[in-house]
Amino acid sequence: MTPIYGGIEAGGTEFVCAVASARGGIVAMGDPIPTTTPSETLERVVEFFLPHGDLRAIGIGSFGPIDPNPESPSWGYITNTPKPGWHGTRFAPFIAERLRTRVAFDTDVNAAALGEFKKGAARGIDQFVYLTIGTGIGGGGMVNGKLMHGLTHPEMGHIRIPRALGDVWPGSCPFHGDCLEGLASGSALRARWGIPPRDLADDHPAWSYEARYLALGVCNLVATLSPRTIILGGGVMRHSGLLEEVRRELDVLRNGYFPAPPLVLPELGDAAGVQGAIALAMNAAIKGKR
Ligand code: ZN
Repeated sequence: MTPIYGGIEAGGTEFVCAVASARGGIVAMGDPIPTTTPSETLERVVEFFLPHGDLRAIGIGSFGPIDPNPESPSWGYITNTPKPGWHGTRFAPFIAERLRTRVAFDTDVNAAALGEFKKGAARGIDQFVYLTIGTGIGGGGMVNGKLMHGLTHPEMGHIRIPRALGDVWPGSCPFHGDCLEGLASGSALRARWGIPPRDLADDHPAWSYEARYLALGVCNLVATLSPRTIILGGGVMRHSGLLEEVRRELDVLRNGYFPAPPLVLPELGDAAGVQGAIALAMNAAIKGKR
């Protein structure tokens, strides 16, 4: 089938590009492109798409922070990321110019949330949160059927949470120290315990802190947004038993006062990011927005 939509999952480690048919099925997926410098990485992205001809729209789900506001002069830019070399990268406008097509631009987590809404764990649910616990922690989702935006986009990874009793580790967020990301992201776990999260044993004390801090973050989101479900994605959530432990901790924290939404894992697996980016492209083409 002829590809008519493109999707770019722009991650801090690698970019994944794919093209899809009119119904959103992926017809070609490129090899991951390492996130090196903006000029090198974005040039390779363009090289992937060029042979596929004219596309109706391309969706980008990007690491951030980004500017997703179409009215803003810096729409489509990666803004003040701590990632070396990427601060102020003119991303979506560059892709739109080089490939001469409409581009939809959002956070990686909002793109993944849209993918889960269309085909995964949030089907039929118009108010939900998607929290991804990977190298960093990102959050997005939908309110009343629309992806969450505002001044820019939610930064749920940087909410402030109370510390567990006796825990004085300063946290790893370069901006806030012990925000949620600074305490509970994959890079925080690695910095704190000296080993990557996937190598931390099941009975390592890291996991009880982790469940507690994630549940505190989730509890705040439940109290603030009243989501109908919360999808917990990202590599750290693959740790066996962590999801159940977060559910238990959340029950303790809410103390019967408000109902807990289902906490679930994403359903789309490894292709979720790029599938979500394609969903952004399809939405943009339908709505006629850039
Ligand atoms: Zn922070």
